[in-house]
Amino acid sequence: MNVRNSGHLWKEIISGRTGNMIAGPCAVESYMQLEKVSAFLVEKQVKMLRAGAYKPRTSPESFQGLGREGVKMIHEICETYGLISVTEIMDIRDLEYMEQEIDILQLGSRNMYNYSMLKELGKTDKPILLKRGLMATIEEFIFAAEYIRKEGNNKIIMCERGIRTFEKETRNTLDLSCVALLKQKTSYPVVVDLSHSLGRKDIMVPMAKASLAAGADMLMLEVHPEPEKALSDAKQQLNLNEFHKILYSVGAL
Ligand code: PEP
Ligand code: MN
Repeated sequence: MNVRNSGHLWKEIISGRTGNMIAGPCAVESYMQLEKVSAFLVEKQVKMLRAGAYKPRTSPESFQGLGREGVKMIHEICETYGLISVTEIMDIRDLEYMEQEIDILQLGSRNMYNYSMLKELGKTDKPILLKRGLMATIEEFIFAAEYIRKEGNNKIIMCERGIRTFEKETRNTLDLSCVALLKQKTSYPVVVDLSHSLGRKDIMVPMAKASLAAGADMLMLEVHPEPEKALSDAKQQLNLNEFHKILYSVGAL
């Protein structure tokens, strides 16, 4: 097993030594694509790489991710570049092998209500990046974390990723009061996924600053070497230059 010791990694995360950025492409598309982003992250001292191998797409016709092959690429590249890997687990049957390859397991928005999955993730010692359900109340979100914790795993990162409202200008409505309330009601680190909250790039800087002001410990951003050619979420992925500018504007450089 070549992944990090979870206890040690968790101490690094909660002490802030892993930095406040989680970034990477929406989906791993090829070795070269992931390597380009990873080299850039290392150059900018970003320590956590997030990329999807199993993609929960609305249409079954859309790109579903590279699956196990993608997980392997994430694992290999993170090992080569010394990055911490984050990727989504969509099927609990993948847990056994993903535990060997990945440092932090993401539970996606659509599975926040999957109580049997929450319980199973409570039995691993892997840090879990738990995304808020598309229409979950803050109370339901905290209860979801409680399902994981109750089984023995308290290594949970709470991720606000916007909720569904009537508003159409943004992909979801970023709920910053959730961030402030999570900091008040729980002791878990909180990350704001700006890319999936906003679904657009032009207001990322002010919303990144606002997220940090509301108490977010970390920000999550999608970065792709050529966003216009991306196989998923092309509109919201930052190119390397745009990502650099955001890091600069939030004082991460
Ligand atoms: C993702 O993070 O890749 C994703 C699909 O986001 P969410 O689960 O928040 O919709
Ligand atoms: Mn995405």
